[in-house]
Amino acid sequence: MRGLRFLLSIAIVMSLSHYVRGHAPAAQTEETDARISDRDAGVLVQRFEQLAAAELRKMDPVGELYLQPDRGDKDTDSYSWGRLVTSGDQERRTIPINPLPAHIEELLSPDPHFDARHYVLRFIRHDSVNGLPVLIYETHPIGSYDGFEGQVALDGQGVVWRYVGSRRAVDSFLTRWSGEWRKRHFVYSGWRARLHGGSLYTTDVFIQQIPSANSPAQFSRRGRMRLWNYGKTRAEQARAELQIVNGAERPLSRALGPSADENERRWMRDVEDYVLEVLTREGYLAPEGTFETRSCAQVISNLLAVSRIREALDPPVRCRVLLSSRLDLRLLGHTVLISVGCLDTAGDEGTVAMILAHGLAEMVIKPTPITAKVAFVKRPALDLLAALETKASDEEPVNKEALALLSKSLYAPKLEQAGLFLDGMNDVTTRLSSLVPQTFVDHVGDTAGALRQSEWMRRRPVYDPSRPGHYSALPLGSRMALNRETNQVDLLHAPLVPIVGKSFGVVPPYPSNSDELSASLASRSAD
Ligand SMILES: [Zn+2]
Repeated sequence: MRGLRFLLSIAIVMSLSHYVRGHAPAAQTEETDARISDRDAGVLVQRFEQLAAAELRKMDPVGELYLQPDRGDKDTDSYSWGRLVTSGDQERRTIPINPLPAHIEELLSPDPHFDARHYVLRFIRHDSVNGLPVLIYETHPIGSYDGFEGQVALDGQGVVWRYVGSRRAVDSFLTRWSGEWRKRHFVYSGWRARLHGGSLYTTDVFIQQIPSANSPAQFSRRGRMRLWNYGKTRAEQARAELQIVNGAERPLSRALGPSADENERRWMRDVEDYVLEVLTREGYLAPEGTFETRSCAQVISNLLAVSRIREALDPPVRCRVLLSSRLDLRLLGHTVLISVGCLDTAGDEGTVAMILAHGLAEMVIKPTPITAKVAFVKRPALDLLAALETKASDEEPVNKEALALLSKSLYAPKLEQAGLFLDGMNDVTTRLSSLVPQTFVDHVGDTAGALRQSEWMRRRPVYDPSRPGHYSALPLGSRMALNRETNQVDLLHAPLVPIVGKSFGVVPPYPSNSDELSASLASRSAD
């Protein structure tokens, strides 16, 4: 009877907590201190996971999944990103192309079909997540049920904030996805945040392969999944898509410009704006914020400060951020699209400047007319993005121009780290061909050594990825913060810590201050 009353009160608290923002610390402490029996905990986890799965189906997140072999492994890495399609959603299934693998939602929960009858839970200890007191329970599936063997962090309101453990369904889907035939075993760990008016969503998952008994201990992979675009529900997103389509079909009534040349430039910018709008609305590109208009624009203006090409670049160059962790640089007219992956792993501002310099040089040396493939054509966002990729060709004059830009800029005396980044990039591209694609290296990687033999980079330390204190790149997630609701990016205010042997590597995310971060990003974008 007491147990039933407790569950009822939990149900009420949970339905209320959806609307109530902020926490009541006093009430919460009492509830946490109150003993939740292991059995009740199982029922709470079941309720919460079912609620979370239902809430997730209403949302329209974009996610990326990346799995990386450790140093020395002969295997390569795997990457994909796209719109998350949760199974059971008939409407969305009609869309044929989904670059994220099937069953990806398995990673977003300890068990999306958590049923307390199939589990034994055991209380282990008190802990805290995001400063909130939680109870840690061990979960064991009963009998042959393919359940979650691990730990969940449950708070007094019945919310599962974190989970870490393994499940056979996850093993098979990750094994299949990474192109292996022999089953691999993984531990996965999910972090959740309160977003979109109060519901909880998984924003980050860290994955670590467990070496099997008969393989060497260092034979291992690490991976991560990151989700964002939680600002709109699926219905809201669909309405936004409709608006764009209507907007695009409207005939463009332009007042006659003073010259054909002027009209041509305007038309180009219209096309640029259209593609940027589609990519932003679909959640693949960060909306323009202070990072783009101040930090990134500052680097571009530093590069062009005393350059003769500044006049040639009209309309002025803009910078936008692709939300992928892959190293990526694409040009759309006079807009540079640089990926979060580039910004994250670049060891310093000089390295970012070097990457952007290549983009600026391309614009001047090989001005590419915007192709008919992207001009107001209704295509899936990822197709538009693919149409912007160009094969590297005739890179020598481009590198020469990029070097000219760099050598006249304030970055000239501090390009040694950028040189090491180029060394690292060329070294890892075969092993990490998904994260550091060959196309990117062919463009930006200075394969002929023109930049690295220059007086600005010549005196860099000898590249040695295992020497303490030396690094070519930072681990993923080192520099950039991503707001999971608005998709805005900004620089993290954390110290940059290179880790030996982890250049371009995956490290656990621990997004403990995600609420704080969202708040600070929101307030900054308001001013
Ligand atoms: Zn190039």
